[in-house]
Amino acid sequence: MSQNAGSAEGDDSLSSDEPPSSANADPSSPPAAPAAATPGRILQRVGEDRWRDWQWQMKNRIRTVGQLRHRFPALDVSSGLLQAARKFPLAITPYYASLIRRADPSDPIFRMAAPQEAELVDPPFLCDDPLEEDADMPVPGLIHRYADRALLLVTTTCASYCRYCTRKRVAGMHESAISPVRLQQAVAYLADHPEITDVILSGGDALTLATESLERVLAAVRGVPSVEIIRIGTRAPVVIPQRITDELAAMLRRYQPLWINTHFNHPVELTAEAAEACARLADAGIPLGNQTVLLRGVNDRPEIIERLCRGLVRMRVRPYYLFQCDLVRGVEHFRTPLARGIEIMEYLRGRVSGLAIPLFVVDAPHGGGKIPVLPTYVVSTSPTHTVLRNFEGMLVSYPEPASAGAERARATSDRAPGFATAQPGPARGGSALGGGGAEPGVWDLASGRASAICPAGSDRLRRRELKDSAKSP
Ligand code: SF4
Repeated sequence: MSQNAGSAEGDDSLSSDEPPSSANADPSSPPAAPAAATPGRILQRVGEDRWRDWQWQMKNRIRTVGQLRHRFPALDVSSGLLQAARKFPLAITPYYASLIRRADPSDPIFRMAAPQEAELVDPPFLCDDPLEEDADMPVPGLIHRYADRALLLVTTTCASYCRYCTRKRVAGMHESAISPVRLQQAVAYLADHPEITDVILSGGDALTLATESLERVLAAVRGVPSVEIIRIGTRAPVVIPQRITDELAAMLRRYQPLWINTHFNHPVELTAEAAEACARLADAGIPLGNQTVLLRGVNDRPEIIERLCRGLVRMRVRPYYLFQCDLVRGVEHFRTPLARGIEIMEYLRGRVSGLAIPLFVVDAPHGGGKIPVLPTYVVSTSPTHTVLRNFEGMLVSYPEPASAGAERARATSDRAPGFATAQPGPARGGSALGGGGAEPGVWDLASGRASAICPAGSDRLRRRELKDSAKSP
């Protein structure tokens, strides 16, 4: 695979700076519910039939810097960009390229898909296989980390290569599909390990396989009696939604229970085409989750993640994980401080439904697995009460069961004797509930002397006051 700058080899009709897709015109504007596709210049030149053919999309991917420049004449081709393109594979489908508004890293899609000089920054804590997946492969291509789950690499091909990819050492280096021998080895291992009940097909992107090839893999895995659930991790609905054909959906539904995890990162990706692809899968009875990677300069603002999550839920896709960017070589410019993820979680809670809130996780280096990272909601504990904080900053005293309280009180009998006997007051209204005399503090909540401390002027309390005043004569 050539990644050198060279003359454009793709379809000439794809040369333009003007995107044809139905994506929102302004990358930072809120995505409305997906609108009907509005064919642009390129789509008109290419023709709808070809544009909708996923094989045509695969054949006409941008694979070289020359092709990238041909498609985006305003692109500034520096020697650093050329080096980055030589180091890590480049592929962008015509559809995904059509979502790019500006050929520079300020554009979220361009930033995720196009090579940049910043990829050459190489601090010592980054490596090729930060999750040590290769060390957890009992047979080639099968990662067995958690007791009941295994991940099978079924191809090294993706429709578009993400510049932040964790599996850069595999994805796109040599595009190939799993061989029959490897598949047999993996299936034999699964059969020998009945504790594995959940198998994830990944890669690369499993949905870049031809439907018959993918079905061969699914049939082989489904043939292992102990496998209960099959999952597919795919970015196809994002970068090549044309791949989600009726034929594919019909084939997939034969292998239930089958779950699909998509990989949308930015609201601009929530196009009419993507919504159609997800609807086709959901209508086939396939539950859809989404894994987002938190990426600096792409989606590291709470409002962007909020719009993304709301849009996903509208498309029947449940936000599942928000990943901290892995410590993989070439991604330093994408990494955000952990605090940013916590800030985003803090922002979402109480603002959007829990259904639309993903779990923020760090996939731990050294194969440590996924570690959830949450804002701190437990403020204090005593034998009888736990003090919790809600999204508004309200502190509430949660009484433990009497038996648990007695047991913990025995274990901490040298602590303040008042803990086990204090009675809380009513839990509503005002700024300090249930306390008597002086303003209560966290100690009063932990001991049960007060039941809540509310921040003044919250929207929720204002609504209650309005309701109360409406009732009074
Ligand atoms: S689709 Fe997945 S495997 Fe492929 S480049 Fe993107 S993140 Fe990596």
